[in-house]
Amino acid sequence: MTTASVARKTASILLVLLLLLGTARSAMAEKPDLALDSTTREQGEFFIATVTGLDTPPRLWFDSTLYTMFRQPDGSFRALLPVKALQPPGRYAVLAINDTWKEKIPVQVTLNDMPVQKIWLDKKTSGLRATKDEKRRVKEGLSTRSERKLWSGTFMMPAQGRKSSPFGVKRSYNGAPVSSYHKGIDIAAPQGTVIRSPASGKVVLTGYESKTFHVHGNTVLIDHGHAVTSIYLHMHDILVQPGDIVSKGDPIGTIGSTGISTGPHLHWGVYLYGTSVNPELFVRNAY
Ligand SMILES: [Zn+2]
Repeated sequence: MTTASVARKTASILLVLLLLLGTARSAMAEKPDLALDSTTREQGEFFIATVTGLDTPPRLWFDSTLYTMFRQPDGSFRALLPVKALQPPGRYAVLAINDTWKEKIPVQVTLNDMPVQKIWLDKKTSGLRATKDEKRRVKEGLSTRSERKLWSGTFMMPAQGRKSSPFGVKRSYNGAPVSSYHKGIDIAAPQGTVIRSPASGKVVLTGYESKTFHVHGNTVLIDHGHAVTSIYLHMHDILVQPGDIVSKGDPIGTIGSTGISTGPHLHWGVYLYGTSVNPELFVRNAY
């Protein structure tokens, strides 16, 4: 190597170093900031919290729950904060905090106008409970928190059919006060109708009625990354296995009436950090 080329090389390395230092300094010089997409949300919806100006994610609190924030391509951190469908309406706050900074934004949770459905169960049906195994496995699957965001754009409806029950309908059993709500959307369609993955993701659970899934019936659970999961219940056929990577539109099974079900339909749920939110939000908007 000639002296001139060594000098050129050194100069270009120095230039790269200076550029790197420059970007690092400007990122650190930016003041940390917490932003929300809205300060009012209904039960069953969610807030989008974004933090900019930090190199590592802060601790993020909403209604005494600590949430993991996920890094976005632009370097910011984001979390979709679920509002439970039975969350008492009122004032709450979102708080982002690290060792040197904190920011708090007051928020309002409002009542959704979902009706109360009175359900009368006979002794035999009310005695049917999810088995320990299906409960544990579903809970485990819904709490998946993958660092990688696997979906992009909007979700599609997983099946064509009649929407027989919307998300969030409040339920009272045998005359008792509202104790639960409908944690997804029901789509009624003939047995055998194809169910498609509404967005890309990774299958993390399949459960079978014949193997302990007595209430959920044949079940598929998909992880979409960044604490977003979706679940499909009462299926007839299951066409995927745990570990399968699915794309938007890929068949995952068919509609059936397995588990506790009064006729062929798909129950479709979308969860954020294990809390169900209205799946239609993901069909209407790209997050
Ligand atoms: Zn349902």
